[in-house]
Amino acid sequence: MMIPFNKPYITGNELQYMMQAVQSGKISGDGMFSERCHAFFQEKFGFGRCYLTTSCTDALEMIAILLNIGHGDEVIIPSFSFVSLANAFVLRGADIVFIDSNSKNPNIDVEALEGLITPRTKVIAPIHYAGIAADMDRIIELCQKYDLFLIEDAAQAIDSKFNDKPLGSIGDLGAMSFHETKNIIAGEGGLLIVNNDKYIERAEIIREKGTNRSKFFRGEIDKYGWIDIGSSFLPSDLIAAFLYAQLENINSIQTRRAEIWNRYYGALKPLENDGKLILPHLPDFATNNYHIFYFVCETHGVRTKLMRFLAEKSINAVFHYQPLHLSPYFKDKYKGPELVNSVRYGDCLLRLPMYYELTPDIQDEVIDSIIKFYQN
Ligand SMILES: *Cc1c(COP(=O)(O)O)cnc(C)c1O
Repeated sequence: MMIPFNKPYITGNELQYMMQAVQSGKISGDGMFSERCHAFFQEKFGFGRCYLTTSCTDALEMIAILLNIGHGDEVIIPSFSFVSLANAFVLRGADIVFIDSNSKNPNIDVEALEGLITPRTKVIAPIHYAGIAADMDRIIELCQKYDLFLIEDAAQAIDSKFNDKPLGSIGDLGAMSFHETKNIIAGEGGLLIVNNDKYIERAEIIREKGTNRSKFFRGEIDKYGWIDIGSSFLPSDLIAAFLYAQLENINSIQTRRAEIWNRYYGALKPLENDGKLILPHLPDFATNNYHIFYFVCETHGVRTKLMRFLAEKSINAVFHYQPLHLSPYFKDKYKGPELVNSVRYGDCLLRLPMYYELTPDIQDEVIDSIIKFYQN
């Protein structure tokens, strides 16, 4: 039997809620379940205004439009991140300035940040890798000093915090993902978080194909029309119905993931003590949301051998990410310094199977196989 890397967990009420959405007679966007999801995020995490989107990628694209990012603008993002964050700004014609990860974990190296800021810099967009907060105090300080927008790619960061602040609530704007590989899922889906009120009105327009249809449906105007650029960024209420069932079970999902994560951590700690691998580092200011269990191998060669060893035992462990500055699309355009940590995480980081239904027996197979690998 194959041990998969991920398995989408269905809480039980998804289909019933989707049926209710169908029976309500409104299955396009911003129906009853979308409203419930929006309220959930605003109440539970203290987010500003929330808008479901068809993906986190779309939420990031909306952000780039909202901030009027265009040719000549520079956006600082980590090289060790997902392509959607870079693409959102590339699509607007901006120049991407890649920053290295820090040596302790894959988040932005804040020491390198100020040196990358130029008169053309508009945005700093950290990700919170594995749901572990980036060093936001230093990033906020620089955004204030140089008058830059702060965007949080909180795709992986649901239910996690920087000090006492929920991730996603800190930047001017933020984006979250409900892709089936995340903690809370809707197949495909995302969230735009608008913490700075001045973007609310235009966010609604961009999300509704550049029209003021949202205002029209609230009865605030008597006809709607084309007033700005935009696209169709809102999901069907069927997706929201599925998502709402997940959100209602967020506590049990997080509790289970914590058990699995902590069990891996405890079992692999002796290998770290022996200097064989490096386990995730949580800074004092960060909490864990148990999104990813990863460790960093000593070398790329070791990781390759370990992945092959696990594959032979039908265990699917996977790496993350190819550094974006070395990607086929970008490598010829990249003019910056070597990003040694980004390259090291790209070469040496390994993620283990991590999903709600991972039983202790199956998890033991994974753990025992890793221990056996390092004994040889
Ligand atoms: C998953 C992910 C995304 C993209 O999310 P989608 O909902 O699949 O578009 C973006 N950024 C990061 C850091 C992610 O992990």
